[in-house]
Amino acid sequence: MPAAALRNTARVPHQAWSGPAALSEVRWALVATGFFALGLFAQLAGLPGWLYWGLYLTCYGSGGWQPGLAGLQALRNRILDVDLLMVVAALAAAGIGQVFDGALLIVIFATSGALEAVATRRTEDSVRGLLGLTPETATRVDEFDVERQVDTAQLAVDDVLLIRPGERIGGDGVVLEGASEVDQATITGESLPADKAPGDEVFAGTVNGTGTLRIRVVRPSADTVISRIATMVAEAGASKARTQLFIEKIEQRYSVLMVAATVALLLVPLLAGSDLRSSLLRAMTFMIVASPCALVLSTMPPLLASIANAGRHGVLVKSAVVLEKLADAGPVAFDKTGTLTKGAPRLAKVHSENGFSDIALLSLAASAENPSEHPLARAIVAAARAAGAAVRPATEFASAPGRGIRAQVGDHTVEVGSPALLRAYPVAERFEQAGYTAVIVVVDGAPAGVLALTDHPRDEARAAVAKLELLTGRTPLLMTGDNPRAAAQLAADVGITDVRAGLLPEDKVGVVRGLEADGARVLFVGDGVNDAPAMAAAHVAVAMGRSGSDLALETSDAVITRDDLAALPAVVALARRARRVVAANLVIAATFIVVLVTWDLLGHLPLPLGVAGHEGSTVLVGLNGLRLLRDRAWPVRGRS
Ligand code: ADP
Ligand code: MG
Repeated sequence: MPAAALRNTARVPHQAWSGPAALSEVRWALVATGFFALGLFAQLAGLPGWLYWGLYLTCYGSGGWQPGLAGLQALRNRILDVDLLMVVAALAAAGIGQVFDGALLIVIFATSGALEAVATRRTEDSVRGLLGLTPETATRVDEFDVERQVDTAQLAVDDVLLIRPGERIGGDGVVLEGASEVDQATITGESLPADKAPGDEVFAGTVNGTGTLRIRVVRPSADTVISRIATMVAEAGASKARTQLFIEKIEQRYSVLMVAATVALLLVPLLAGSDLRSSLLRAMTFMIVASPCALVLSTMPPLLASIANAGRHGVLVKSAVVLEKLADAGPVAFDKTGTLTKGAPRLAKVHSENGFSDIALLSLAASAENPSEHPLARAIVAAARAAGAAVRPATEFASAPGRGIRAQVGDHTVEVGSPALLRAYPVAERFEQAGYTAVIVVVDGAPAGVLALTDHPRDEARAAVAKLELLTGRTPLLMTGDNPRAAAQLAADVGITDVRAGLLPEDKVGVVRGLEADGARVLFVGDGVNDAPAMAAAHVAVAMGRSGSDLALETSDAVITRDDLAALPAVVALARRARRVVAANLVIAATFIVVLVTWDLLGHLPLPLGVAGHEGSTVLVGLNGLRLLRDRAWPVRGRS
């Protein structure tokens, strides 16, 4: 489904969902089954032949026109569609008087087609369910305080919106006035509403609580977090797994070969003096049972079902290929700040010198850091506000990922960043030896002080690391730009032994490349701009959605939308399970084909039995894949 279409449907509140019968495949399958039943009744009741023939042929028409038409269109593009072969087989059966067998084939065929359509629809629906709904209109306030209802699609950056109690928020924005609590479950999965005050960010599609808010729109409606998620989901649905592409490539040649074999199976006995009817019957049966329908259906349903399931549980997998990669990845490389840690560091100690007071130092550092999205920057700004230090506007802000930032505050040039950038700086070293993350503040080229910060590991980090080690069978690593002391302390807390510290973004890439050169398939988990290059280099990359920077979200292959690291081992386990289901499906499908074909060639396989066996195996693998859609298939109990 194209992204635009998905976004459109996502915008309609309480979208009309009138059950599976809403699908045309299902309606036509029901009609075909009805006429089949009437025909069977007429035949058994001994009614005139023209009557039950008429009923059976109506069944042909209603059940076969859709796949027949699609097959003819595919043929125009020189693609031999298996569906078309099924219709041809049914017509040929009627041609030799076996109208009942042909109608049975059509009915089972149409029914399994309808089942497939329902399954696909359910998958799409359950993915869309996690998106929540952006309202269609929002209340915009102009500079004269006049309110107007406008289409949310037309919202522009800097528009001011009024959000009344209980209203769904129409755009991503920043709170200007008011206080309220907002239910953000659609985006973060957090069950508790988040308190919002001026300066806080709010997201489209989340629900306002009891207060009234005035917000300033910060993103055009096509770029809201929720519509980006929608686009990713649409892309996931449109992508195909490598296994699937492989099968489709084989399918074409296989189909042509199969038709050739069918013709041979018809002609050779005929030339050898066999009668037309039995030769045709055997050839038809062969064509039906040798069709690769079940093989084709082996791969995508389990993968798509898993993607939908993961989506419901807070992991957005961007494509079927990603799921395949997650299944064979290892070792896992973790970023530290924001990934293994809560990403909410606190300022613990301030050391000022060169005539700066603690407050003056904090004020300059916070003013310069204010535009930065880095967790350390947010901690410094928060600490300054709490201490009553002024946070002033900064200009000429520039950041060097993994190093620090520089900005102009008033007539001072302020730099804040890693001590590794400066020459030896004893105070910072002392903080680092105590396990802190130390950043240095340099004002107008001269050191002005050191800020020491601490961050706590996530509660679930240790268990997640252990599970991933068990699943992948490889020792996980920590890759961080922070100092070796702080890194070692955190690694010990979460149970990681392989620590690489003091890495600049390009060093992270180097480590990933080095591991991959040794044949490892690195799963990189990170959140920052500094992680994006390593993410791009890794076999597969996962971003922490809440703290994650835009760049990390774009670069990653999957996003953990709820702030829960436990989802990572869960999605890896699910991906592995999906891989096992695909393998089992391929074996089931191939076994059915081999057994039925052998039976037809060496013995006498009755046509109805062949039809039932072929369609039965197709339905079987389809349902087997859909098992992964169930809540129980998600390997983490509780929190959902
Ligand atoms: P990690 O790899 O653990 O996520 P980063 O690569 O983001 O850490 O940061 C590495 C180091 O760079 C930090 O420990 C800090 O010293 C410095 N740094 C990066 N960004 C900033 C910033 N905005 N303000 C201050 N220091 C920063
Ligand atoms: Mg980070």
